[in-house]
Amino acid sequence: MIELIKLPYAPEALEPVISARTIGFHYGKHLQTYVNNLNLLIEQDSALSGRTLEEIVCNSSGSISNNAGQILNHNLYFTQFRSPKSDNAPAGRIAQAIEKQFGSFGNFCEEFKQKGTALFGSGWVWLSADKDGSLVISQEPNAGNPLTRGLKPLLTFDVWEHAYYLDYQNRRPDHLAALWQIVDWDEVNRRLG
Ligand code: MN
Repeated sequence: MIELIKLPYAPEALEPVISARTIGFHYGKHLQTYVNNLNLLIEQDSALSGRTLEEIVCNSSGSISNNAGQILNHNLYFTQFRSPKSDNAPAGRIAQAIEKQFGSFGNFCEEFKQKGTALFGSGWVWLSADKDGSLVISQEPNAGNPLTRGLKPLLTFDVWEHAYYLDYQNRRPDHLAALWQIVDWDEVNRRLG
């Protein structure tokens, strides 16, 4: 049985970057539906019960992989935010790693936004670390997660239209640019380990 995660903030806490209305649909309806779907699939396949989401994502295909992937991705997405700060910037080890690899936080944001904007259709743009600790920005279609290629996921922006359409309509690049104000870099540092 997979549980819907609890949000570590109130539904309106991310406004105006993400509205309470978007949280209501995105977390309350879309994520809940993926959780319900996966639990039905687990009931039909006893080999899945007791497995972690990560194990299911790395060892399945079809609807099981899609629903488990979407739950894992949304769990990482919703727990990486906190209330907006206009001068929000990375700190600690992730700040050093970004500077070393991309030259500056501004360059990094530009590449992240470009990859998120250019991803055709639905999917996710990810920041991950490889086994040597180098940072990687990747585009993953649909429910993709870089974990399946041995990378450690650190940060992700959801570019499915359900993530931004109520607040930004077709303006995906504006949504991606605004998200930097709410990234919880302490959480990203915890994931970096
Ligand atoms: Mn989503």
